[in-house]
Parts: sequence; C-alpha cells; structure tokens
Amino acid sequence: MTATIIDGKQIAKQKREALAKEVEQLKLEGLTPKLVVILVGDSPASLSYIKGKRKAAEEIGIGFKLEHFSGDYSEKELLQLINSYNNNSEFHGILVQLPLPKHISEKAVIEEISPLKDVDGFHPLNVGKMMIGQESFLPCTPAGIVEMIKSVGAEIKGKHVVVVGRSNIVGKPVGQLLLNEDATVTYCHSKTANLSEFTKVADILIAAVGRADFIKADDIKNGAVVIDVGVNRLDNGKLCGDVEFEKAKEVASFITPVPGGVGPMTITMLAHNTVQSAKNQLKNLQGS
Ligand code: NDP
Repeated sequence: MTATIIDGKQIAKQKREALAKEVEQLKLEGLTPKLVVILVGDSPASLSYIKGKRKAAEEIGIGFKLEHFSGDYSEKELLQLINSYNNNSEFHGILVQLPLPKHISEKAVIEEISPLKDVDGFHPLNVGKMMIGQESFLPCTPAGIVEMIKSVGAEIKGKHVVVVGRSNIVGKPVGQLLLNEDATVTYCHSKTANLSEFTKVADILIAAVGRADFIKADDIKNGAVVIDVGVNRLDNGKLCGDVEFEKAKEVASFITPVPGGVGPMTITMLAHNTVQSAKNQLKNLQGS
C-alpha cells in the first residue's frame, strides 16, 4: 500500500479562501479582524514563524501588527502591553510568540491575555472549555490536525488514536480534541515503556516528539493514518518530521509530509480564530 499524502498546503489554501470571503463580509459590516503578534527577542525560528503568520493574515485580509522588542524587555512591560491590547477593541487576537526569554513567566503572560482574544487557545479558561467540550478558541496545531483528518474523510469515531508527546500545546490537546470526536485515545511520552507496542496498534498515529525519524515504518500499523507534527532541522539544513516518511508511506493509508503538512494548517487555524473573535465581537455589539 502506498499512502495518500495529506496535502496540508492545499487544505490550508481552501480554508484561507473561505476565510477571506468571511473577512470580506465582515468588512462590509464595518469590521476588520486584526491580530497583534508580540515578540520578545530575535529568535530566527520565531521570526520565521511570524513571517508565515503575517503572510497568511495578509492573504486573508486580516490586519496584522507586530510588536517586536529586544530580549531585555521586562515582564512588567509585557504584561502592561498585553493589557492595553485586551482593552483595545480594534484588535481581536493577541498572540505572544513563544518561547519567551527566561526572565519572563510564560504562565503569567498566557494568563494575562484576555480569554476573549486568546487566539492561540492557551489560556487555562479556553483549555478548560475545550476539555468539557464547550465552545472556545481551540489551540491551532491540534485543531488543524483534526480538520486535516476530517478533510480526507478518515473515520475518527471509535478509532484508536495514539499520541506520542504530551505537551500542553500539541500532544495533550490533540488527544482531547480527538476524544471529543469519540476516538479512544492513548498518550505516550518519554517515560512510556515499550512505545512501539502502542504505536503498532494505532489506527491514527500522531507524532509530536521533536526527534527526526523517531517513528519507524515497522512501528506503524498497516493502513494507519499518520500525522507527523514534528519539525526537525537536519545538519544539511533540510526540515523533516518525527516519522521515517519514505518508508512509512508504504505502510500508512494517509500521511502528512514535513514540510507542507501540519505547519500550514496551524497558521491557518490562527487566522480562523482571529476571524471567529471578530465575529464574536460583532455579535456582542449587535446584541447590545
Ligand atoms: P515538547 O518538547 O514540548 O514535547 C515533546 C514531547 O515528546 C514530550 O511530551 C516528551 O515526553 C515526548 N518525548 C520526548 N522524547 C520522547 C521519547 N524518546 N519517547 C516518547 N516520547 C518522547 O514539543 P512540542 O509538543 O512543543 O512539539 C513537538 C514537535 O512538534 C516539535 O518538533 C515542534 O517543533 C513541532 N511543532 C510543530 C508545529 C507545527 O505547526 N507544525 C507546532 C508546534 C510544534 P515528556 O513529556 O515525558 O518529556
């Protein structure tokens, strides 16, 4: 069997076109969705991610502003800045690019962002709502993964999902979202004994580890849907995922490539959340 490649770029393109139409409509109603991204420091990886976010926002018609500060910007200043955007009705989404320099508490920053503008979906209130299946901003990578699986028509209900990785931004929430879709979910992590015993029985395997070629083709069930979240830079400068792609695609039924898989959808879901936030604001205005 040779797997069908899940083309994240193509799925993202279709979603961006649909979002652009929604934004056009919102503009007719006098509202332009706007996103502010706050960056502290000059990490090349962060700058590259932000470039992608700006491009997507501009393509869709979302206003985009970057607030960029040097690495010695203080936590107090950052919290004040976030607060000013919480109270600025022109902006619908606030994203603080992670990771932050060590002297700034990630927890304090995430909790300072208004849950109503938390388009990354990291605020504990939004995480809690997601857990109990209430409407909330969903974290972008996990939400994008669910859309990708659905877009190829793969069944989720009743399937055994194995998530390798349990971070707060990818592993845990993607498992939760798939549980909400009636999958049976197993989480694996660095302390899991006999990892391959789990991956080998996964109908849907999500690899979110951050180690090149960590999941071998032999550890994948025949016909599994394989979602590779990992982004690893090789010594030759090329990017690759956590899954041994060339061999795995001879075993899986569907597989995401790296690059061109989960990444483009992650950015698109950020735009989706920003548009959703603007729509929420409009609804509240019309209701009041
Ligand atoms: P983290 O480093 O926060 O988490 C990695 C997870 O992998 C941890 O839960 C860790 O376990 C687990 N792990 C590490 N080593 C092993 C091992 N030997 N066996 C089993 N599990 C292991 O990473 P993130 O979740 O933030 O990201 C994961 C990957 O996804 C990275 O490559 C990142 O760059 C990429 N990424 C891609 C995005 C995209 O849009 N394409 C978005 C976000 C992330 P433990 O908890 O026990 O330490």
